[in-house]
Amino acid sequence: MKDEKILNKMNISLPALSVNESVCRSVVGVFCAQLNPTIEELADIKCAVSEAVTNCIVHAYKNNGGVIYISTVLYNDRSVKIEIRDKGCGIADVKQALQPLFTTDPDGERSGMGFSVMETFTDKLSVSSRLGKGTKVTLKKRLS
Ligand code: ATP
Ligand code: MG
Repeated sequence: MKDEKILNKMNISLPALSVNESVCRSVVGVFCAQLNPTIEELADIKCAVSEAVTNCIVHAYKNNGGVIYISTVLYNDRSVKIEIRDKGCGIADVKQALQPLFTTDPDGERSGMGFSVMETFTDKLSVSSRLGKGTKVTLKKRLS
């Protein structure tokens, strides 16, 4: 991603409500569809977005509201960059959070596989976070 040009860009923000998990995955999916991805590529993108958005809702804001910010950028080299940002609690140790099966969920409802799913279904995952300030998850994927 060096000399690529931006073809299109979308910024959305939505309340961190669980109903908006499917809204986010669908809206980002529809926007990315203009690059004519395969059905599998589109499913991968939607799945990764869904995991990131769920984390904002359940971890960052602990189901107490807040806002999810999503930026989606399409490039002329057929790559997609999606940033999912929250202003929630932040992550104390990002390296640890990225480990498969790591979860801070005390009730055992979570499997600690969200970041692993995002990593598997995209080409690049990066996470930056500040405790008490929030978290930004960046997903990059190059379409065939
Ligand atoms: P699963 O995604 O399988 O339901 P999980 O959400 O616990 O379980 P991951 O999505 O991999 O697993 O996230 C790992 C941990 O990272 C979480 O348990 C949580 O502590 C932390 N985390 C992830 N995203 C955020 C976020 N946006 N804000 C604060 N903490 C987060
Ligand atoms: Mg998760």
